[in-house]
Amino acid sequence: MSQSEPQDVVNSEGSVVQNADEAASIVLNQALSAAAQGTFAVGGAIVENATGRVIHKLHNNVLKKLLRTDSDTNNVFTYDPTAHGETQLVYWYYENKTKFNLPEPEELTIITTLDPCVMCTGALLTAGFNVGVIAIDDYAGINWDEDFNFQTLPESLRDLAKSKFGYYASENKDGGPSEYVRSYKGSPNVALRNTSISVQRLMGCDSIFRAGLESVRADSYDAGPDADKNLLDPYYLPEESLIKVKYREIYPDAFKVKISNPRLPGEELFQILKKVKESEPKAQNSVALLDQFGNVILCLADTDESPVHTAFMNVTQNYAIIRFELTKMYVNDPKKVEAPNKYLTYPKYGTFVFLYAPSPNSTKAIMTLGAYGSTLEGKVPKIFPANFQYYYPPHEGTIKELRSVIMHLPPFYNEFAPISIMQVAGDFT
Ligand SMILES: [Zn+2]
Repeated sequence: MSQSEPQDVVNSEGSVVQNADEAASIVLNQALSAAAQGTFAVGGAIVENATGRVIHKLHNNVLKKLLRTDSDTNNVFTYDPTAHGETQLVYWYYENKTKFNLPEPEELTIITTLDPCVMCTGALLTAGFNVGVIAIDDYAGINWDEDFNFQTLPESLRDLAKSKFGYYASENKDGGPSEYVRSYKGSPNVALRNTSISVQRLMGCDSIFRAGLESVRADSYDAGPDADKNLLDPYYLPEESLIKVKYREIYPDAFKVKISNPRLPGEELFQILKKVKESEPKAQNSVALLDQFGNVILCLADTDESPVHTAFMNVTQNYAIIRFELTKMYVNDPKKVEAPNKYLTYPKYGTFVFLYAPSPNSTKAIMTLGAYGSTLEGKVPKIFPANFQYYYPPHEGTIKELRSVIMHLPPFYNEFAPISIMQVAGDFT
């Protein structure tokens, strides 16, 4: 499924930036557009290191508007919890690499208004981009404590991150608070690293994000009914219901299998996950999403479109985007589809079941854990604390190491959206 809408796409003949401040101006404008859309105010761009050419720019799209006509931000709904600026740029890159004959990620820098979160860091490192950062995010950012040593990552990945990430210098050219003044820190490979941004621009990137944060989070909470109340079981919808039809376009068996206890998925789901993984020859993993009724909504494997198209990313993106499209359809024409919010809710009320737990020292695990945190947007309900389960331990490394990786993630992933993993009860071989 495409991550970028056509109006976001600029062709490869983009503008050229001479210094980091010009680049900061472009991504700050993207962040302002994100704020106007009612989503997290973060923007980013891909810049070619050798030339300063801006190859593509876009902004966060976690929330989008449901009504075509309404210009205020009161009718936003979760579109895709993984649609952060940087992760979308990584997806855009792989979708367009051949078409635009784009340079390798090592020759490019993704410049972002805000320090990447765990998911984006994992996606950027998996792809191999250089990363130029403007403002610090002291809650979910990979350098949330401004240590710049990547203590938030497993030791095995810290040198890699240090060789890719750089934090631009900022200069107090026309006055302004001096606590934002800093020198360049990080990788020697980041585009425009020898130039600085103005303190005003840095403050702009910082304050536009913070200004909208609480209301955007509140809007993302409105994206579904409480699962324990009023939700109807989509299993009993007619076969021609668009809710079934749309999910079956991605996973043909959607809503066909009902696991009697979604908290104890057992042998039946194990066999499904193995079959789905085997259907993609290069896949290392498969992941299923069960709803609270035990329906298997999606079960998908890693796909070979790119290294970031992992099973979990495929599941969480498709679940959200289809739910958004159905909701948008319903809001604009209620006769077309059953009210989606009567049948579909937050993924945190369901269960994500992995065939293999993520390998703790891999960049893909970092992306996966971060994407899981972003998907939850808040605590898993107390009635069911374990909605991240796995059958097999990681391909490489141990569950103990994986738990340690989780423990060291930035505060967001341990306080706001805590990640706890559990092996599926039973004996599976
Ligand atoms: Zn992110």
